[in-house]
Amino acid sequence: MSEETLRVRFAPSPTGYLHIGGARTCLFNWLYARKCAGELILRIEDTDLARSKKEFLDEILESIEWLGMDWDQIYYQSERFDIYHEYAKKLIDQGSAYKKEGAVFFKYNFDQVKIDDLIRGEIIFKELPKNEEVIIKSDNSPTYNFSCVIDDALMEINCIIRGEDHISNTPKQLLMYKALGFKTPQFAHVPLILSGQGGRLSKRFGATSIRQYRQEGYLSESIVNYLMLLGWSPGENREIISLSEAKEIFTMKAVNKTGAAFSLDKLNWINGEYIRQKTTEDFSDLIINYLKENNALPESIDKNYLNKLASLFKERTLRLSDLLTALKPYLNDEVIYSDEAKKILDNSLIKEVSFLRDSLDKIGDFNKEDIEKTFRKAAEDLNIKLKILVHPSRIALTGTKHGPGLFETIETLGKERVIKRLNKLIDYWSQKQ
Ligand code: GLU
Repeated sequence: MSEETLRVRFAPSPTGYLHIGGARTCLFNWLYARKCAGELILRIEDTDLARSKKEFLDEILESIEWLGMDWDQIYYQSERFDIYHEYAKKLIDQGSAYKKEGAVFFKYNFDQVKIDDLIRGEIIFKELPKNEEVIIKSDNSPTYNFSCVIDDALMEINCIIRGEDHISNTPKQLLMYKALGFKTPQFAHVPLILSGQGGRLSKRFGATSIRQYRQEGYLSESIVNYLMLLGWSPGENREIISLSEAKEIFTMKAVNKTGAAFSLDKLNWINGEYIRQKTTEDFSDLIINYLKENNALPESIDKNYLNKLASLFKERTLRLSDLLTALKPYLNDEVIYSDEAKKILDNSLIKEVSFLRDSLDKIGDFNKEDIEKTFRKAAEDLNIKLKILVHPSRIALTGTKHGPGLFETIETLGKERVIKRLNKLIDYWSQKQ
């Protein structure tokens, strides 16, 4: 066999944002191309001039790059109409196509077609429902099957990796290859991504575009890692694997034949793992960018304080979007008591909390060890259980019953905020009396 360079392509239609299925197809193409020192061609299938939008195109390119992938060449089908017409004419001239009512039809006699799919093995097509196919529509635009074949042939694509939903197009495309005397490529049809319920992943499922996941605060490394696992396995039960590592070991053989079910829990878990791999400084930068994008970063917040918050939340964050709520009491001066929290505050503890506040105010170096000691000592002096002080303090400081460890939270907030917030709780009780 000749040592031909592998040439694969990803061929999105810019009629919508890059969705999970498309991103995974792009990823498998990218991994295979990089593993084999081949080339990845990006082909924008924008022949539907009415439905193709620049906004979608820009987003598709940006998402591919955001996920960490690149391409070697890019083509736009909208710039290649002359080429498709030239080949349609060739088919007409040789008697394999004819013109009717402004459209061009490709005629064929179907005899059994066989492909040796790199993922699915041998696939035999026994019959086709029709014996002709439109290749140029009456508005002069080419149909998908035709422009796809012309481009795959002229761009010297020798391996077509695409979603399994295109298997039914393959026999028609092979007939066009044959009629035009083009060399046929190899095929690798990647199984579909299923929803957790077993059906096809559809818009009804919730977020399906990469953009939405990005907006929800998933890191690009996590999404790309998760996409890899949808149909491919790095072996040895590994689940956390980077793009640069995967491109060294990717094989088409290890791609599953059956559909892969999308699991949000798994994606969340992976995202949490990548967050924990970040240094506090990097995580802090991610938080800052995310808060900025969501107009949730107060101007007066200093970087040092944000680093402390990053360290407080790193171990317990699954998605950056969770921080929009969780960080509210840390970023805003006003703490709002949740309804659930208010129930705990039914019982006024003015005397006890005032005593605690005075003790905390006396701490010189406001660190979590000394804060904890102060709490314990106050409870002892007041002759009450520690938790009697812990619950209302947590609510006074963050408005809710839940959150990171209280003593760390107190250290992070700093003495000034803590005293102010305890005073506010004391006022709240005084007004209720
Ligand atoms: N534009 C087609 C799609 O997005 C490409 C199909 C193919 O890869 O042949 O589904």
